[in-house]
Amino acid sequence: MEGKVRIGFYALTSCYGCQLQLAMMDELLQLLPHAEIVCWFMVERDSYEDEPVDIAFIEGSVSTEEEVELVKKIRENAKIVVAVGSCAVHGGVQSWEKDKSLEELWKTVYGDGKVKFEPKMAEPVENYIKVDYRIYGCPPEKRDFLYALGTFLVGSWPEDIDYPVCVECRLKGHPCILIEKGEPCLGPITRAGCDARCPGFGVACIGCRGAIGYDVAWFDSLARTFKEKGISKEEILQRMKMFNAHNPKLEEMVEKIFQGVEE
Ligand code: SF4
Ligand code: SF4
Ligand code: SF4
Repeated sequence: MEGKVRIGFYALTSCYGCQLQLAMMDELLQLLPHAEIVCWFMVERDSYEDEPVDIAFIEGSVSTEEEVELVKKIRENAKIVVAVGSCAVHGGVQSWEKDKSLEELWKTVYGDGKVKFEPKMAEPVENYIKVDYRIYGCPPEKRDFLYALGTFLVGSWPEDIDYPVCVECRLKGHPCILIEKGEPCLGPITRAGCDARCPGFGVACIGCRGAIGYDVAWFDSLARTFKEKGISKEEILQRMKMFNAHNPKLEEMVEKIFQGVEE
């Protein structure tokens, strides 16, 4: 890209954790001579959502009617749109129960509380506009953001990770939570890139980086192990839905894992 790269960072409904993660990156200071931050309310008071940008980073899920309009406007104004974090890429934990009605969920959380905006069920950005690249995780790794941004800046395109968390977990030498403790770790079917952070702390993966490609998991051995440990299809499906409820292939994938091992 020639001249200063114009960057926008836009927030939809979220915990703002992704932005905070990026705003705390010292490496961003090195970028300032080469980039102009056109919109990023967390770091720049003089931010403009209507301006054209080269790269638009979007955090959060589309959860209000106003945000539907905002993402369309961002798309019109941006050459490259990047969805950042599980909320933007997958709808986030807030869309976990996407099959329930908004009224039912609203009542559970807010009772008769009213708001000034028009709420809707949380959805991934991609349900409304074309997304050019995704940065996974809740929150994403700093290196994923730097890799994507650096690659765009030299006029190239970042690659996607297409292997599961288990690969990084084995390389790190962590004890296997699934095999040794019999807990339903989702590492075998979740996209790597976090260096198996949770298993590193002795905690089973809950799939925050999203399911890997449909045909990557080793379904046969995985199914045998789940069955051996007494972990059911329903349990895996429920756990995967926490961050992957909008994945249209999810049920088919879990079904395939358990094919041939059911009683
Ligand atoms: S992906 Fe996670 S860290 Fe990022 S905004 Fe959503 S909930 Fe927060
Ligand atoms: S199942 Fe979980 S703990 Fe076991 S290797 Fe895979 S990521 Fe690591
Ligand atoms: S181990 Fe799983 S839940 Fe933990 S950070 Fe990695 S992908 Fe997310």
